Amino acid sequence: MASVCGFLNIVLALLALTGEKQPDDLVVLQRGNIPVIIVAPHGGNLPIPNCPPRKGEGHPERPRFVTAQDVGTRELASAIAEAIYQRLKEKPYLVILAAHRKYVDVNRPPEFAFECEPAQKVYDAFHRALEDTCQEVEQRFSCGLLLDIHGQGLNPEVVYRGTAHGKTVERLRKLYGEEALTGEKSLFGMLKARGFKVYPDPLGNPEWPGYSGGYIVRRFGGERWAIDAYQMEFGMKYRRKEVRTETAAKIAEVVEHYMKLYLQRPPGTSEPLLHRAKPQGIIAQRTHGKICHKGLQSFSGVAVLKVSSADDSPPRAGFTRLHVHQQNTKRGYAERDVSIPQE
Ligand SMILES: [Zn+2]
Repeated sequence: MASVCGFLNIVLALLALTGEKQPDDLVVLQRGNIPVIIVAPHGGNLPIPNCPPRKGEGHPERPRFVTAQDVGTRELASAIAEAIYQRLKEKPYLVILAAHRKYVDVNRPPEFAFECEPAQKVYDAFHRALEDTCQEVEQRFSCGLLLDIHGQGLNPEVVYRGTAHGKTVERLRKLYGEEALTGEKSLFGMLKARGFKVYPDPLGNPEWPGYSGGYIVRRFGGERWAIDAYQMEFGMKYRRKEVRTETAAKIAEVVEHYMKLYLQRPPGTSEPLLHRAKPQGIIAQRTHGKICHKGLQSFSGVAVLKVSSADDSPPRAGFTRLHVHQQNTKRGYAERDVSIPQE
């Protein structure tokens, strides 16, 4: 059977050789059969046809305007997928952007990500592919692990963890406690035990502000998804050509432990794997593009005061996003965005 990495290298080589590219061509998607998603948004080096490099005019200070490629991360992501396949004989999902970051930054909200229409199409294709992937993983496995692979130049020796200070791994923390993020058996605790210099260290300290988790992990991790999403910012020590295979093998080993510890139902318990608030008593539908609410009494059993649509951020396919104001007996009042299936 052809290996994952071999397949991807062929795809990427073909992309480099062939002429005019369609938006979907610049997104390399490998379907998997385990609940692990490897993402590389900044490792691409291909141009987008009819699209000049971004200038960043009017770009705010935060999020930062960056056009540099995260060198070696596309290859590292492929190597991790390959190492997982070699170890488990199962394929993870893999989503790679082959386009260069100077044309589009898919780790930014759409308003700061592109400056021309062809780049917007690439952006949409990448996010559609990643969203479909996350949705499929949730449906097939009830939960998942997403590793968003990046490269940083701040400290070549270090791998920085980005979980928005725990927000993008909310499912994990709810089900397995804080230790699952900050203990020896956490993802980064297990990396540290294999010789990686990690940040934060101690693991319970705050994450480095610049690398605490970008748009991708914030969009696909957190309370709307049953996916534990980690941004991993690798120093050059770990992503150089000569060491990638070794880095990938260690990560594959850690991923295997992670799956056993946190992505499987503990034996003899009825502990739910899927942590996602379930809507109750919601009747909403889309009519001529407008969302109508025929009635919404409660969400997760908590009385709802007011509902408005939250269509400003991209909704999940097949779902409608609502902004819900809840009566909350503990804190008095709460606001949250929820996704409900479209009728
Ligand atoms: Zn990056």
